[in-house]
Amino acid sequence: MKVLVCNAGSTSLKFKLYEMPQCDLLATGKVERVGSVNDAIFGYCNSGTGYREEAAGQNIPDYQAGIERFLTCLTQGEGAVLADISEIERVGYKSVLSKGHYGVHEIDEGVMQGMRDFLALAPVHNSAYLSAIQTVQAVLPQARHVGVFETAFHRDIPLERKLYGVPYEWYEKYGVQRLGYHGASHGYIADVLNAEKVEYAAISCHLGGSASICAILNGRSVDTSFGMSLETGLIHANRVGDMDPTMIHFLKQEGLSEQEILEGCQKKGGLLGISGVSNDLRYIEEAADGGNERAKLAIDVFVTGIVHYIGAFYLDLGRLDDLVFTAGIGEHSARIRQMVCEKLAPIGVKLDGAKNEACSGEGVISAEDSAVRVRVIPTNEELGIARRTYEID
Ligand code: ADP
Repeated sequence: MKVLVCNAGSTSLKFKLYEMPQCDLLATGKVERVGSVNDAIFGYCNSGTGYREEAAGQNIPDYQAGIERFLTCLTQGEGAVLADISEIERVGYKSVLSKGHYGVHEIDEGVMQGMRDFLALAPVHNSAYLSAIQTVQAVLPQARHVGVFETAFHRDIPLERKLYGVPYEWYEKYGVQRLGYHGASHGYIADVLNAEKVEYAAISCHLGGSASICAILNGRSVDTSFGMSLETGLIHANRVGDMDPTMIHFLKQEGLSEQEILEGCQKKGGLLGISGVSNDLRYIEEAADGGNERAKLAIDVFVTGIVHYIGAFYLDLGRLDDLVFTAGIGEHSARIRQMVCEKLAPIGVKLDGAKNEACSGEGVISAEDSAVRVRVIPTNEELGIARRTYEID
């Protein structure tokens, strides 16, 4: 079965076409700067033959033009992998959240309405998907369209770990609860571990532009650092993470406008806000090496948050077999992995410094006598989505 995975951003579209259940990647496509006249970037690759197209300065005024261009490459010319687009049986979306639909759902009007209802919680992501889904549905009407929501992997987290200390009616009436995100990534990590064993306790650290920690027991998420919105949990590249809501009233009283406060929390916060250097950890590490104290502080705040969640989840799980680092920072920053693991010595974590420094791609980086196996596993969110889309009844 051919499954197309669609990842939509406000000005970008990324596609991966898989043959399932073999999980063979057939082709990939990307459109950047959708909406720009003669400034969009289009890319296509036939994964089997390696045939590649990359063109800048393209006129791709909207999602429709972007998806049509990709479908043309799939079916025509040197890089084609399909005789006809009707071979695409399912489309899976890396969608974020929909009120009342927290798992994997075939897209219908109820699911779309749920996405509209939660626009305030994920304005950029939900508006991008609402528009991309409508467009792709119109172009591929024969396919089944499936929303693999980022909350899906966390939907079975027990209620006592999901509820905020707010009036219970807010949970019942408005759905106020900790939902969790990065489900495609943590779910993929669980897929990798599930292939090795059935019973295990693991903690997955997705450290990228957004960052979250997930406690996994026997293949299921049992807790995560993200709350109801994406502005929660750990500090992120430029978003605040957990904060005190009363701070908002205080800052207003101090003369900041609502717009300024939102911008501070959603765009100018996190690693960028503390370091004043960049939202990219590579530059922050460089600045820290050069003696920049705020850059060092940003790294320390980030690491402290990660350790706090790991410590709490370790006690909740009762044991820990695998500690996994993934995503841009988790896969590439030996420094962050080392700083985190040093603080985990009391629970028997022992890193092999040389393996940690040398690790490129997948690998075990703990010492032979470490009580916990520490590993780096490159995430593959699209494959996770293709699997969930294929599995739906
Ligand atoms: P996103 O969450 O946007 O999908 P990624 O998971 O690709 O992003 O993570 C991007 C982040 O990974 C970058 O902002 C950068 O901070 C970090 N990163 C990537 N490579 C390295 C590296 N070699 N060293 C340190 N950090 C890195």
